[in-house]
Amino acid sequence: MELTYETMQLELELKRALEQEEFRLYYQPKVNLGTGKIEGMEALIRWEHPDKGLVPPIEFISFAEETGLIIPMGEWVLRTACSQTKKWLKAGLSPMVMSVNLSVRQLYQPNLVERVNQILKESELDPKYLELEITESMMMDQEHTLDILKGLKRLGVQISLDDFGTGYSSLHYLHEFPIDKIKIDQSFIRKCTANPENAAIVKSIITMARGLKMIVVAEGIETKDNLIFLQNHSCQLGQGYFFSMPLPAEELIPYFVQIEQIVPQEGISPKTYNEMLMQQALESTRQELHTIMKQQQGMTFKVIKEKERFIYTLCDGRLMQRMGLTSDQVIGKELKDFMPLEGVEEKTKYFHRAWEGEENVTYVGEFNGVYYITSLSPIRNGNQVEGIIGSCVDVTELKKVNEALTLSESKYRIITENMLELVVTLDAEGKILYISPSHEKVLGYSPKIYEGYLGSDLVHPEDIANLRTVYYSIIESKASCQIEYRYRHVRGEWITVEAQISPVFDEKGELEYLIVVGRNITKRKKDEELKQKSERLTAIHQMALSVAHEIRNPLTTIKGFVQLMKKGSETPFYIETVLNEVKRLEGIVSDFLLLAEPQNDPFKEVDVTVLIHQVLEKFHAKALLNNIKMIMRNDFEIPAIYCNESQIKQVFSHILQNALEALPNGGIVKVQLLGQDGHHIKIRFIDNGYGMSEERLKKIGELFYSTKEKGTGLGFMICQKIIQTHNGKMEIKSKVNKGTMVDVILPIGKGK
Ligand code: C2E
Ligand code: MG
Ligand code: MG
Repeated sequence: MELTYETMQLELELKRALEQEEFRLYYQPKVNLGTGKIEGMEALIRWEHPDKGLVPPIEFISFAEETGLIIPMGEWVLRTACSQTKKWLKAGLSPMVMSVNLSVRQLYQPNLVERVNQILKESELDPKYLELEITESMMMDQEHTLDILKGLKRLGVQISLDDFGTGYSSLHYLHEFPIDKIKIDQSFIRKCTANPENAAIVKSIITMARGLKMIVVAEGIETKDNLIFLQNHSCQLGQGYFFSMPLPAEELIPYFVQIEQIVPQEGISPKTYNEMLMQQALESTRQELHTIMKQQQGMTFKVIKEKERFIYTLCDGRLMQRMGLTSDQVIGKELKDFMPLEGVEEKTKYFHRAWEGEENVTYVGEFNGVYYITSLSPIRNGNQVEGIIGSCVDVTELKKVNEALTLSESKYRIITENMLELVVTLDAEGKILYISPSHEKVLGYSPKIYEGYLGSDLVHPEDIANLRTVYYSIIESKASCQIEYRYRHVRGEWITVEAQISPVFDEKGELEYLIVVGRNITKRKKDEELKQKSERLTAIHQMALSVAHEIRNPLTTIKGFVQLMKKGSETPFYIETVLNEVKRLEGIVSDFLLLAEPQNDPFKEVDVTVLIHQVLEKFHAKALLNNIKMIMRNDFEIPAIYCNESQIKQVFSHILQNALEALPNGGIVKVQLLGQDGHHIKIRFIDNGYGMSEERLKKIGELFYSTKEKGTGLGFMICQKIIQTHNGKMEIKSKVNKGTMVDVILPIGKGK
C-alpha cells in the first residue's frame, strides 16, 4: 500500500483504538433451517470511532492485515468471543458454536495453534464451542494450511470454509482438508430464487457438501423465498438479515425467542422439511446401496416369476463384470438369454425350488471360465413368494488350488504306492506316526495296523540294542545315521534293511520326529555271501590245482632221481638234487602254514613306529651283509593303529624281504611314515632294486606267481588279505632297473 498521510494517520488511529479499546464485537446468529433454533453465532468486528462513529470491518481489516495489526486485533476478537460464549453458557442459554473469522496473516502467525489453545484455557471454554472461519484463498499454500488446520483440529476446534464459491475453488482440496462446514457465499444466496444459475450453483454445492459429509451454511439469507429455497434443498444452517442483523451481545439476547420463531412461521412446515430430509436420506441410502451392489466382490441378483419365466430384475457386482456381463444383458432377461443352454435347465430347477420356498438352495456354476457358488433364497411378502434373491461368490481361485492339489496328491500317491523304500516316521518316543504303503509289498502286512506301535516291534530282537544306541546318538549329534537291521516279514522270515535315520527338530531344537528310509537289501546280502563263498571255492580250487602242480614237479624230479639211484649211479649228485627238491616242497608247505596261521589274534592298539623298528632290526644283519642301507623317515606324528600286531609284522617283513632280495648287489631301502587324510596313515617302502615290469606287476597278486626265482607267490596274496581285513589298502608301483615302491595304507584308531 502506498504510504500517504491518510494511511499513516489510519495506522496511528488503529493502534490507539487497540489501546483505548475502541473495537466492539457484534454477533449474528446461525439458525437451524429445520427447527429454527439458534445453533451458532458469528463474531463480527466493529470500530467505534470517536469522531466517525461505527466503522465496518471492510474499511480497516485489509489495512490491519498489511500493517500486522491484525495479529493483536485478532487475538482480542478471539478472547472476547470466547469469554462471551462462556458467559452465555454459564447464563444457561442453549449451547451454541461461536464462529471467529481468521485472516491469512493470522494463519502464518508462528504460534497460532498455541495461542488459540491458550485463549481457550484462559476463558475456560470447551474447544468444541469454537469454530474458526477461513477462506478459500488460504488454501493456496496447501501444505502449510493443512498443518495448521490439523493442529487446530487436534485442539478440538471446528473449521468452517467461509465465502465458498468466490475464491480459489479447487474441489480437490476439499476432502483433503479437515473442514466441518461450508458457508455458501451470500452473493449466490441473495439471488438464488431470481437467478436459475445461482440456484443451480447453490443446489450443487449442497449436494457436494453432503457427499463429503460436511454441514452447509447459507449466509446472506434476506428473504422468505431464500429461506424456503434453501429448506427445499435441505441446507442445514442459515445466517442473514432475515433472521437478525449482527448486534452487540446485550442487544441480541432479547430477540432470541423472536428469532427462533422465524423458521416455524415463515418456512415450510417442520413435517414437510423432515419428510424431505427423509426422502433425501433414502435417496442417498439408495445411492449407497447401488454403489455397494456394484462394488461388491461377488454378485447379487433378484429374479421374479412372470408367466412361468424367471426374469432378472436386478443384477450387479464385480463378479458379474468378471463374467463379462453387463446389467443391460441381464436385467429384464431370462437365463437362456445370456447363458449357454446346457446350464439353463439345471439352474431353472434350482430357481423352482427356491420359488417353492426352500431357503439356501446352493449350486456351483461356471461362466466364461469363472467358477462361482450361488445361494438362492425366496423373498416373501407374507406367505407369498414374490421373488428370489441370489448371491454368488467367485470360487475360481479355490477351484484352481483344488485342481493343483488333486494333481499333486495323485502324483504323490503314485510315488508312495509304487516305491519300494520303506518310509516310517516315528515320534520322540519311537511310536510309529506314519508307515508307507510299501511295507505291505516288502513285509507283507498292511502298514495301517502298525500306526501307534513302537517302531521296534517290527525289528529283530538282536538288532534292537544297536538300534537304540543309534537312536540316542542321533538325538545327541542331531545328525542322520545309516544302520542295518532286520525286519520281520509276515511269513516269519527276516528281511535285512539298510536304513537312513534322520531327525527332524522343532524351532526350539527339540526332536519332533524321526524319518526312517529303509531299503530291502536281503537279496543283495545273500548275493554277496554267495559271491564270497564261490570266490573262496574258486580260490581253493585254484590253489588245489596249483599245489598239485607245484608238488608234482619236485615229486617227479625226486621220483626220477630215486629210480636212478636205485640203479646205483652218481649217487651224491642225485642226493643233492633230491634234497633241493625236498627243500622246495618244504618252502611250499611253510607258505601254506603261514596262510593257515591263526588269523584271529586279538586286535590291539599298536605304535607303528616301534613295530617297524622291530621289523627293520630283524633284517639288520642281512642288510649289512649285502651292503644295503636301511633308512627310516618319519615326517608325521603317528597315532596308534588298531591291528593284529603279528599279522602286520608279517606283512612288513614280507615287503622288506622282497626289497632286500631285489638288491643282490647292495642299495638303499627306505621306510617312510606319512599321514594320509586324517583317518589313515601310509607306510611307504622304497628300494632301488631291479624292479618289475608291468606284466609282472599285474600278476603279482596271483597264486604261485613269484617275483623271485623260487617261492610260491603266496606271500603277496597273504599280505593283501591281511591288509584288507584291517580295512586298509596295499599299492605297488615298480619300474624295471629303477626300483619298487610299496604303500601300505591303514586306518587310524578302531577303523571299523
Ligand atoms: P463474513 O465473515 O463473510 O461475514 C458476513 C458479512 O455479511 C458480515 O459483514 C455481515 O454483517 C454481512 N451480512 C450478514 N447477513 C447479511 C445479509 O443478509 N445481507 C448482507 N448484505 N450482508 C449480510 P461485516 O460484518 O461487514 O463483515 C465483513 C467481513 O469482514 C466478514 O465477512 C469478514 O470477512 C470480515 N470480518 C468481520 N469481522 C472480522 C474479524 O473479527 N476478523 C477478521 N479477520 N475479519 C472479520
Ligand atoms: Mg465469516
Ligand atoms: Mg462470508
